[in-house]
Amino acid sequence: MIKLKITGMTCGHCAKTVKIALESVEGVERADVHFPQGYAEVYGKAEVKKLIDAVNKAGYGAEALQEGPEVFIPKEEMYDLFVLGGGSAGFAAAIRAHEIGAKVLIAEKGIIGGACLNRGCIPSKYLIEIANTFFHARNNPFINAEKLNVDMKKIADFKQKLVERLRKEKYWDVLEAYPKIDYLSGEAKILTSNKALVNGKEITFGKSVIAVGSKPTVPSIKGINQVRFYTSDTIFDIDYLPKRLLVIGGGPIGLELGQAFLRLGSEVILVERFDEILPLEERELSSMLRNILQREGMEIITGAKVIGVRQEGNSILLEIEHQGEKGTLVGSDILLAVGRSPNTHDIGLESVGIKTKEGGFIETDEFMQTSNPNFYAAGDCVGKLPLVTVAAMEGGVAAENALLGNKKTVDYATVPRAVFTDPELASVGLKEEEAKNLGFEVDVRVLDFSKVPRAVIGFREEGLVKMVLDVKTRKILGVHVLSSHGAEVIHKAVLIVKHGLTVDDVIGTTDVYPTLSESIKLVAQSFVKDVSKLSCCVS
Ligand SMILES: Cc1cc2nc3c(=O)[nH]c(=O)nc-3n(C[C@H](O)[C@H](O)[C@H](O)COP(=O)(O)OP(=O)(O)OC[C@H]3O[C@@H](n4cnc5c(N)ncnc54)[C@H](O)[C@@H]3O)c2cc1C
Repeated sequence: MIKLKITGMTCGHCAKTVKIALESVEGVERADVHFPQGYAEVYGKAEVKKLIDAVNKAGYGAEALQEGPEVFIPKEEMYDLFVLGGGSAGFAAAIRAHEIGAKVLIAEKGIIGGACLNRGCIPSKYLIEIANTFFHARNNPFINAEKLNVDMKKIADFKQKLVERLRKEKYWDVLEAYPKIDYLSGEAKILTSNKALVNGKEITFGKSVIAVGSKPTVPSIKGINQVRFYTSDTIFDIDYLPKRLLVIGGGPIGLELGQAFLRLGSEVILVERFDEILPLEERELSSMLRNILQREGMEIITGAKVIGVRQEGNSILLEIEHQGEKGTLVGSDILLAVGRSPNTHDIGLESVGIKTKEGGFIETDEFMQTSNPNFYAAGDCVGKLPLVTVAAMEGGVAAENALLGNKKTVDYATVPRAVFTDPELASVGLKEEEAKNLGFEVDVRVLDFSKVPRAVIGFREEGLVKMVLDVKTRKILGVHVLSSHGAEVIHKAVLIVKHGLTVDDVIGTTDVYPTLSESIKLVAQSFVKDVSKLSCCVS
């Protein structure tokens, strides 16, 4: 290997140009160019003079440092990319940077893996799975389940094992697979455009991706700090079943966890300030979900303002204002699920001129670059779509743009989302109203899952699928599903919407029978036929 000192590079793009120049020289197998350290490692057999000439021709300076297997150590310990936060966005950024050939440092102040693994997607879906199994066993007409009960202590203990297993497989083992990614445990604070402090140690870097995530918002309700409350950060360690759980917030987290505890045996009262639960979803679907939850026993109070909270003995009293009247709800425990706030305070954003927007989320352009060109940001701390899939996409794009000066963007339009209640509410693409507002001439169909044989067989016929069609092109603009396993069913629709397929493409495709995802074909067929008059699988 031949090492060259390269001068004149000002950005990752320069590094790319130098790399191309070096790799054009006869005998060169590969060249790794390191910006901002300012050196290149050239593999293969090439004449040093020819290498220097090629670099000079590309507009940069070059001089031979040494030839041979020794590792060149730059004067300063410097990273190409410094990543603040070891969650999904941070890891995606680090892995992409490694693929590009960069030397990376991840600093993580808490537990490796971030929210999704430790206190989000994984523990919530685990709890929901147990709650649903329990509920369906008790409600199956042919199973005598009188003596069934759940052991919350065992559930919490096993959650820990599950999370530890995935932490090892998905994070620690992954770190080992990438030798140029260093990991430092400690809180990071930005000092200048090229320096940060982690645990008192000064870090020097070329570019940085901020991926510090978010935490549950604790609303400023009178008395909140005098009561014992749970958030999604703490509820998964609960080792008892709340007798009467008050849930504040009718978004995905409040509904998912509210229903899980209801099914495990708690009484649940949910309070939401908007007039409907899930106000961003198609109204037909969210209304049906509300009816299902209420029938199951959840008390849902919408359009309610929480005024105060206090503890009296073992009870928690929640004061609310609803339809102009004040009232008090009594519970044994309370879960706050009112949204997430970014972890952007005290990380030094102001010192380097990084702007934030409402709520403290980091402002970025479409390339994930912040108002300081050395810093990019990704994931929950940016506040675009609080999903782990989006965090990972943004992290990869941010790293690539930061290191190579590329202008990659994230396609948010066809990202699917799901609320893991049972039935699950999952969506992709445009809602009817959104499509109309964008000027499309729209046609829609809504199909009831009682028309889907697999749903009927499985006692799960409550649900709807809605399809939004562009009349002119016959392309499907959006699909919205409320059904058992809706988060699986939606994947078929993701491909349809992302690749601009028409309703006729869907009708002309054969599905497996009987399946829940057949619902997508059936709703497509309902644009051209009365599906209630079709025998099984007729196109
Ligand atoms: C209950 C719940 C359920 C969810 N379910 C789903 C789901 O089913 N599907 C889905 O797609 N999404 C789900 N999400 C959302 C998903 O978890 C997040 O969108 C995702 O984890 C965000 O990743 P991130 O990397 O941006 O942030 P995080 O994963 O939060 O990572 C940020 C990391 O930065 C660290 N950090 C913060 N400040 C500093 C600092 N100064 N120095 C060093 N490190 C720092 C934090 O400790 C943290 O580990 C759920 C979230 C919750 C809360």
